[in-house]
Order: sequence, then C-alpha cells, then structure tokens
Amino acid sequence: MTEESLIAEDKAEPPSCSPEADEPPLSPSVFRRKFYPDVSDAQWNDWRWHFRNRITSVEDLSRFIPLTVKERTRLKLVSARFPLAVTPYYLSLMDLDDPCDPVRLQAVPSSLEVAAGAGHEDPLAEERDSVVPGLVHRYPDRVLMVLTDICAMLCRHCTRKREWHHGGWIHTPAEIERMLDYIRRTPQVRDVIISGGDPLTLSTPQLEKVLSALRQIPHVEIIRIGTRFPVVLPQRIDEELCAMLSKYGPIWLNTHFNHPNEITPEAAGACDRLLRAGVQVNNQSVLLRGVNDTVDTQLKLCHGLLRAKVRPYYLFQCDQVQGTEYFWTPVEVGLRIIEGMRGHTSGLAIPNYVIDLPDGRGKIPLTPNYVLTRTDHELVVRNYEGHISHFTNPKSAPLPRKPKVGVTAPPQLPFGWTVTEVKNEDRAGIRP
Ligand SMILES: *Cc1c(COP(=O)(O)O)cnc(C)c1O
Ligand code: SF4
Repeated sequence: MTEESLIAEDKAEPPSCSPEADEPPLSPSVFRRKFYPDVSDAQWNDWRWHFRNRITSVEDLSRFIPLTVKERTRLKLVSARFPLAVTPYYLSLMDLDDPCDPVRLQAVPSSLEVAAGAGHEDPLAEERDSVVPGLVHRYPDRVLMVLTDICAMLCRHCTRKREWHHGGWIHTPAEIERMLDYIRRTPQVRDVIISGGDPLTLSTPQLEKVLSALRQIPHVEIIRIGTRFPVVLPQRIDEELCAMLSKYGPIWLNTHFNHPNEITPEAAGACDRLLRAGVQVNNQSVLLRGVNDTVDTQLKLCHGLLRAKVRPYYLFQCDQVQGTEYFWTPVEVGLRIIEGMRGHTSGLAIPNYVIDLPDGRGKIPLTPNYVLTRTDHELVVRNYEGHISHFTNPKSAPLPRKPKVGVTAPPQLPFGWTVTEVKNEDRAGIRP
C-alpha cells in the first residue's frame, strides 16, 4: 500500500476510541511480571537500564501492544518520519489495549501524525531567535539554553519534533562555551533555562560542569531545568543527581505531567527528592485533545500535583507543530477548563493558560473574562458562580507608569460573550 492511500484512508476513518476501557490497565507490577520477568528490582530501579531498554521500533512495540499487520505498516511509515522511543517504566503506566489511553496517546505513534495538516516546522521561530547555536534569547532577562536533543521518551506532541530528524546530538564543550560566553557578556540575563531535548540525559558530571560555570556568572540569579524525567523515568532523580543539584541553587525545575495517571508513587518520590535537595518543582502541561482536555482531568491532575508538592505553572495551548494536529483543541476548551477551576478549587491548583505565539512573539496568558463592562468609575464583574457585582474603581491614586514597550489594549468584552444587560436579575441577557 502506498503512503498516500494509507493517509487517504486515515482521513476517512480516524482511529476509533471507546470512552470506557473494557478492562483496567495492568498494574505496573503485573506489567513487570508479564513482560520483564527476569529483570531484578535493582535493574528496574536503575535509570540506565530503562534508557538502554527503551522501545524504539514498531516491531518491538508490538510485543506489548496488539497491532495488526496493517497498523504496523502504517506506524512504520510514521516512525520513519517521527521516531519512537518509550521507556519500559512509562509503558507500564499504560492501558496497553486501549488506543485512547491518555498515557499511551502521548507515547505511541499515530498514523494521524503524517496526515496532511496545518502545522509548521518551527512555529516558534526558535532558530531565528538563536543568538549563538543552542541559545535562544527572546525575552529581556532570561535565555533558553539547549544542550542536547536527546530525550528519555519522544512525546508525540513535542514542539521540537522537527529536531528528531537530526537524531541524538549533544552540544560539544566548545559550543557550550560559546553559549556561556554570551551569557557572561550579557548582564541583563538573570535567569537561564536549561531545556532540550532533555538536559537530564546528560550524565550528572556533564551537567554539573554547565551548572558550576553558570554559577560563576554573578548576574545569573536563577537556573531553571526543563525536564520530563520525573514523569517518564523518575529513577533518574537519584541521590547523586540531587546532591549535585543542591550545590548550585537556587534551581527551579519545570517538569511536564499531563495526566493524573502519570503521578505514580515513583514520580511523586522523584519530586520529593528534588524538593528535599532544595530544588523547586513546577509543572508545565500541554493541553491535548483526548488526554487532558476536560475540567475533570485537569482538576485531578492539578490536585495530584499539589499533593506531590508540585505547583501547576503553565497549561500550554498545543503549539502548531507539524505532526501534532490531532492533539489541537480550540482555545475555548482551555478557557472553559480555567473557568471550571477558578473559584471552584484552590488558586494554587490553577495553572496559567498560555499560547506561545507563532513566529516567536512569546507567551501570552488567556483568561476567561470576568469584567462585563467597565467605565472610569466602575467595573461590572461576574464571579465564578455567575453572580454579577459592581466594583467601584478607586480614582485618586496616580497611575503607574506605562510599560515602555507594547500597546495597551482597550477594555474589551469578555471573550466570546455578548452583553445585552448587566443586571443580576437578568442573567439570561448574557449568553455564551
Ligand atoms: C518559555 C520561554 C522562556 C521562559 O518563559 P517564562 O514565562 O519566564 O517561564 C524563555 N525563553 C523562551 C525562548 C521561551 O520560549
Ligand atoms: S521530553 Fe520535552 S523535548 Fe523531549 S520529546 Fe517530550 S516534550 Fe519533547
């Protein structure tokens, strides 16, 4: 069968997802007994073992997941374009028989990845904003430093999917030195974000070299590490790593949980070890259709994160990257989710819902609009229950100086709403 005919077929019949799985997923321990009976605890708890034993081919995957011959052919085509890599640990969290399992969707390739779509190769224009190779300096006081393109797992929704073609590089010491040199020469940089790929694929001593060099730069106040290891391979967060990180604080680590099923005792343990080493842990999730696009799932996710002492930081609108179209949701979904959380639960559980704008224009927050109308003297606002209040706008204080750059938008009607009347008695006058 040709690629075209397969794709045409996919358009005709998207893979069907049954909302309820017939059987509960195997527990991780049953998974281990079934697929890795001879693997010792020491091996299973060693991140290097998982890394070496990652599942990277469709043939290999079909040992775990029932795939028809036709499905295998399709997925081989997909993985030729967008490679596949899953750790045994992450595989153990899936309902292997359910194509709609939210963990499985993030890791197992889909034929929809190669269906023609509206995505771009580099929508965030990261290549353009690179000041030296690997270093993106877009915002005034912080830079993004990419040390490697290697990840423990290849997430199907990844923004840097385009990099997967180049396959497995780590910047050389000389290249890293050029990045450090730029940061040394640029005193406004007070926050360095080490991202990837996944920087924790570097060995602990390799990573330490970079951290200690950064710490010698007086104007670098904080270091951030962006990593999905706590989610996909929590065993990596071992004593050696934590002891090393604790020497170079303040370090803020951003991880990437997308679904409550990912918050296992192992993952929570990894976050706990980081926190005990003085590393703050925050979460950046991506809003993904079929994975976490309901209020209920986001509530469970964010409550689980708080129990693991992890603060939900961002909920990203999915970047418009080629091969991720099937995960996209309209912004109304994100707004509904935030609206369904705000007021209904702890403010600490509510992430900032943001779009990372195409063409490198940066992140902007989207919030449901609670201001119905506004004059110089008052605001007419609604609360989370829909109750309408009038809030008197204090007048006498001098206005703060306007920011030097940027345009201030005029007050606007709430997103997607029209207002005909703004009295409590007449809520029907306000309709979505
Ligand atoms: C997201 C991002 C940052 C960090 O943004 P924060 O809002 O401070 O978390 C920095 N640089 C680039 C290029 C980014 O995409
Ligand atoms: S860990 Fe991050 S960079 Fe790596 S594949 Fe997943 S989303 Fe992409």
